[in-house]
Amino acid sequence: VELANQIAAGEVVERPASVVKELIENSLDAGATEIVIDIEAGGRKRIRVRDNGSGIAKDELALALARHATSKISTLDDLEAIYSLGFRGEALASMSSVSRLVLTSKPAAQQQAWQAWTNGRDMQAQIEPAAHPDGTTIDISDLFFNTPARRKFLRTDKTEFGHIDEMVKRIALSRFDVSFQLRHNQQLVRQLPIANTPKQRQQRLAKLCGSLFAEQAQRISVESQGYHLEGWFAPSAGCRHQPDVQYFFVNGRMMRDKLLAHALRQAYEPWLIDEKVPTYVLFLRLPAEQVDVNVHPAKHEVRFHQARQVHDWLLQQVRHGLQAVEQ
Ligand code: ADP
Ligand code: MG
Repeated sequence: VELANQIAAGEVVERPASVVKELIENSLDAGATEIVIDIEAGGRKRIRVRDNGSGIAKDELALALARHATSKISTLDDLEAIYSLGFRGEALASMSSVSRLVLTSKPAAQQQAWQAWTNGRDMQAQIEPAAHPDGTTIDISDLFFNTPARRKFLRTDKTEFGHIDEMVKRIALSRFDVSFQLRHNQQLVRQLPIANTPKQRQQRLAKLCGSLFAEQAQRISVESQGYHLEGWFAPSAGCRHQPDVQYFFVNGRMMRDKLLAHALRQAYEPWLIDEKVPTYVLFLRLPAEQVDVNVHPAKHEVRFHQARQVHDWLLQQVRHGLQAVEQ
């Protein structure tokens, strides 16, 4: 069991940032509106994610740490949708096999919080009472302590933390309705309150993408042919000496995709003078049955069933938006 989990871990847990991603996604799935992330030594020493979500009932704690134990599949359709997102029901079990993981949780309906962890070769879960407010904390220490080959691939704390920060940034851009706090070695790195009003959204955007982008970016919100595009774009806020702001989300998930990149580059073409680069934070929504997300969750690729149509639509909308700004 332990070996199978460790092999699965190779797929899910590439580095501390992938652990953070899985944990935050679980918190969001649990309906959390407040997520606090504590990192020590680039995640090598500790990764702790606390949320105020629905929690896990005492009876389900052990199960949550078992492989292929997901509470998120109830019909065959769900199963298909979930497979298309990648490895499901494996994240916690995988992480638990390559670290020291403690899961503490309290659903609102339960009086007492409970804590679970696994140990030994058979991965049997132990549980005991604990103190915890409504919600869940996953505390992971000594990542890869028992898989030296993986540990060796970790970069410096600074680099690993950089990847974590980037991951948090992407997720925070896609969920303005959730507050995020990120600390590294006890130092507050990001403090992002819930941003529901336009002004608050603007502030979060400035914190994540820089004030230049936030000031110059134009809002876009268009819907036609079953596609919906919204977000911000700036024709000239980027230049080569500034970190690029190029974020594109498809149905809520960040993508780096050739087809999308091509459409955007073409749309921006006439404006890309003087070292300028396209800058945008855009969210495309389309019916789920029209896209396949690559089975590997880390690849950020997407396959559109009507690729040409999506490409041309996007090109047209963004170009139109840019022309409107120029006038
Ligand atoms: P998956 O997310 O694919 O279902 P995971 O291994 O990531 O698989 O999590 C296993 C299960 O543990 C989830 O299905 C969910 O029921 C529970 N779980 C994990 N994290 C949380 C959380 N933060 N809040 C509530 N439940 C959680
Ligand atoms: Mg998960």
